[in-house]
Amino acid sequence: MKRAAAYARFSSDRQNELSNQDQIERIFVYAKTNDFQIVRTYQDEELSGFLGPEHREGLRSLMQESKRYNFQYILVWNFDRFARSRRIAQNLKQELKEMGLELISVTQALPTGSSRVLVESLYEGVAEWYSWNFAENVMRGTIASIKRGDFAGIHAPFGYKDVRDEKKRHIIIDKETAPFVRQVFEAYVNGESLSKLAAMLNEQGYQTIRGNPYSIDAVSWMLKNPLYKGILVYNNKRSKKRGEKNPFTEVVTVEHPELTIVPPETWERAQRLRRAHQGIRSQKVYLLKGLVQCAKCGHYITRHYRGANIQDQQYGYTPGKNYTCNWCKKHYGRSGMVGEQKLNQLVMNHMHKIFNDIETNVDSFVAHVNKELKDKRERLAIDRILGEIADINERIKNITHAIEMGKGINTLLDRLEELQNEKARAETNLRESRAIEKQLEEFSAEYVLGNLETLKGKMNSIETAHEVLKGITTMKVDLDSRVFEIVVFNMVSTFAV
Ligand SMILES: [Zn+2]
Repeated sequence: MKRAAAYARFSSDRQNELSNQDQIERIFVYAKTNDFQIVRTYQDEELSGFLGPEHREGLRSLMQESKRYNFQYILVWNFDRFARSRRIAQNLKQELKEMGLELISVTQALPTGSSRVLVESLYEGVAEWYSWNFAENVMRGTIASIKRGDFAGIHAPFGYKDVRDEKKRHIIIDKETAPFVRQVFEAYVNGESLSKLAAMLNEQGYQTIRGNPYSIDAVSWMLKNPLYKGILVYNNKRSKKRGEKNPFTEVVTVEHPELTIVPPETWERAQRLRRAHQGIRSQKVYLLKGLVQCAKCGHYITRHYRGANIQDQQYGYTPGKNYTCNWCKKHYGRSGMVGEQKLNQLVMNHMHKIFNDIETNVDSFVAHVNKELKDKRERLAIDRILGEIADINERIKNITHAIEMGKGINTLLDRLEELQNEKARAETNLRESRAIEKQLEEFSAEYVLGNLETLKGKMNSIETAHEVLKGITTMKVDLDSRVFEIVVFNMVSTFAV
């Protein structure tokens, strides 16, 4: 028997998922018929698959305990239990491979041989595409309600309080603390330091929403909240806990003049001061920040400024900003470089090419994604469950008939109860499978084209382009042989840089 661990994850970012217990049950059924011995089960709840193992207690212990419990396989109900983001999936898989562990999905068969990698990446791609679809719908609903004046997911910041009337939650100005907010802003624009302001708030016994004393960062955060000038800005980045920003996120701005605490002029003045104070400290996003892995060591390459001195030039480096690998530099004493502009340009051109390719071949792209979804639907085996239920019904009918004929009543009644339990289980199964089936509905060409438009639009500014790249690509560069690899929607391309 092969020794295996079972891993289940239930997340609240999708409704109607199989519970952890159901996932584990199905894994056990599979293990029994496929000669696996489950030596240990691990699970995580309510955590997004966009998070890495450091945020997932169950997954972390699984990885730490594989030696102790001596298992070589990890059984999951579905690959997307493991990771929704391809970047995390790939990193995890690499790590598991190095630990001698093999990941097996009990519902998704993988072919052996060379096509395995392709099918595997397809599963990952679909999982990712598909949870955006979901995240996007959720966001769309939330955004619509926020535009209508709801305060979904927004907690009253300092100076406001939550109220609930007629079952609707909203926030109002807190007459007790609001004057203090005004005082903080005024003191700040009159030259008071952040640390003094923090001390002032703490002296008065105020705390942050999370119940901590005010720090410099907390005051700084407070000073940039536009709600104080009557404008509510809502975007996903702030509402999601430690998760990643969704590339489809729309920033919503709604005016709430009734919530103004600080005169807009004072608020703006505070911002100008803040920017001036922060100055060089502010860290700017650059296009490929944290997105391109070094092929040698797996760390992400970073941007550095390289001067125009002769020594640098003799290695053929262009003066200016270059990407390089800090880790390799530190551990091997050297690392190659690639010019920022050159690499950025290449990535942008490639993305436009891919978007255009999908656009001109939208039908085959959609067919390809839908075929995956269809296979997934088939694996839900709804027809088989329906057959099972019909069969159980038939047997129940026979037993009822036999009871009516007065044959061996007690055994028959026991059997009847058994069958009724079996039927209830099958019906639960059916409900769950149907719920999942609903989420696997086909994509239309319009939907894909609409999303493409959004994505293309986002490529126009560095910050949003960075989010798109983070969401749909994985990139790797070998700084010595100067080979750059980019994967978009499971399509791998390599370039010499
Ligand atoms: Zn490196």
